[in-house]
Amino acid sequence: MSVAVAIVGSGPAGCYAAGALLKKLPGCRIDIIERLPTPFGLIRGGIAPDHQSTKNVARVFEKTLDREGVRLLGNVELGRDISYDELKELYDVVVLAVGAQVPRPLGIPGEDLPGVANVIDFVGWYNGVPGSRDYSAAVNAEAAVIVGNGNVALDVARVLAKTRAELEASDIVPAVADAIAAAPMKDIYVIGRRGPVESSFSYPELSEFGDLQEAVPLARAAQLPEDAGAAEASARKNKQKNLDVLKTYAANTAGDKPVRVHFCFFASPVAVLGEDRVTGLRMVRNRIEAGRAVATDETFDIAARLLVPAIGYRTGPIAAVPLDDRRGTVSNEEGRVEPGVYAVGWAKRGPTGVVGTNKGDSQRVVDLIVADAPRAAKPGPDSVDRLLGARGVRVVTTADWRRIDAVECARGHGEREREKFTTLDDMLGLLDTEAAA
Ligand code: NAP
Repeated sequence: MSVAVAIVGSGPAGCYAAGALLKKLPGCRIDIIERLPTPFGLIRGGIAPDHQSTKNVARVFEKTLDREGVRLLGNVELGRDISYDELKELYDVVVLAVGAQVPRPLGIPGEDLPGVANVIDFVGWYNGVPGSRDYSAAVNAEAAVIVGNGNVALDVARVLAKTRAELEASDIVPAVADAIAAAPMKDIYVIGRRGPVESSFSYPELSEFGDLQEAVPLARAAQLPEDAGAAEASARKNKQKNLDVLKTYAANTAGDKPVRVHFCFFASPVAVLGEDRVTGLRMVRNRIEAGRAVATDETFDIAARLLVPAIGYRTGPIAAVPLDDRRGTVSNEEGRVEPGVYAVGWAKRGPTGVVGTNKGDSQRVVDLIVADAPRAAKPGPDSVDRLLGARGVRVVTTADWRRIDAVECARGHGEREREKFTTLDDMLGLLDTEAAA
């Protein structure tokens, strides 16, 4: 018998963990349990649809799924179809790669009003993640405010600022591209509570705004320091590059193109305005003290009918998985959760880093797993199949997913690599129709 491993979550952290386990625990059997019928987590559902090249790493993960001993158990949800305790009873090793599924709240009055988007749903909506809310009506606005100075804020702003033609070179849901193109959007505000040097933007993502067809990026010269000398030495070069880009934005003229993307700094939202829906946002100006944003007594309002807080995520309640409330992750020490259970990726360290960050991180956790010398003592795959079969769960295998993938790709055309299915019914219906035929 060989060690039976369950990895919950098929995103980058889970797939990198599977690859490392195959190397370091030769002969182990790995079941990758995934809530959706499609694998690869944020590669499919998080990375912006117009950043196709970042998704190429999926080819590496596809090879992992094809390795002997590895199975995809798609459309299987921890807490719904199988419990945390059952996983621990059935597998020698459980690796939680469940990511972070809950947006951090702003914690201000009015943030539940219609027109305030849940950023995970918003990104899921344009990426075709089944179950995401429909924001077609919400984007029908003249102004949008995106709070946060990270790359997710940039993704959302860029997608909203692009034309229909620009969105064509992507795998965005066509109806979403139509809704964005039809919207009367004129002003998109990206607002940071601290300054440009403290922002978490990546340079390539920030500089892309200079190339948009119909949108002009703007910044206020008065908010831009002379240089990035205040940044930590290790980050200074990149921060300086960002600052240089923002200075070119400060030299732009508002009327050059129909859409304006405003990069604003040193302001925090204090209240969402509106009775039945968002009509604007009350902001307070900040000053920076010892690297922290401190509110002044100066406030101002921005009129906008769409607000997208993009201020980070936390791992949400999942079945009986122990959570660390303070960190917003699965409770873990360097990846160890409890005997036989480990966490990787955002579930382990929080929502930081790019896709590649997960490679080394998952490898380090696999080293711990190997050091803990797991024994092959639990029944693993056969018993899981029986349990899921008895519960009537329609498990989506790697072969099933390849059918979905092939049909999605066949629906693509021109610059559009694929046209995604966006509902479980469509995906599972396709498989059932083919099985019946
Ligand atoms: P992030 O990089 O951590 O940025 C979060 C932003 O929200 C920060 O600017 C933070 O400001 C701000 N913030 C937090 N709490 C706030 C509050 N209460 N009020 C106002 N602002 C607040 O997170 P993210 O953008 O969600 O991205 C998550 C991870 O995915 C990051 O590692 C990111 O680089 C990665 N990602 C990468 C790409 C890419 O490479 N293209 C694309 C998307 C995401 P402070 O700094 O002041 O805390």
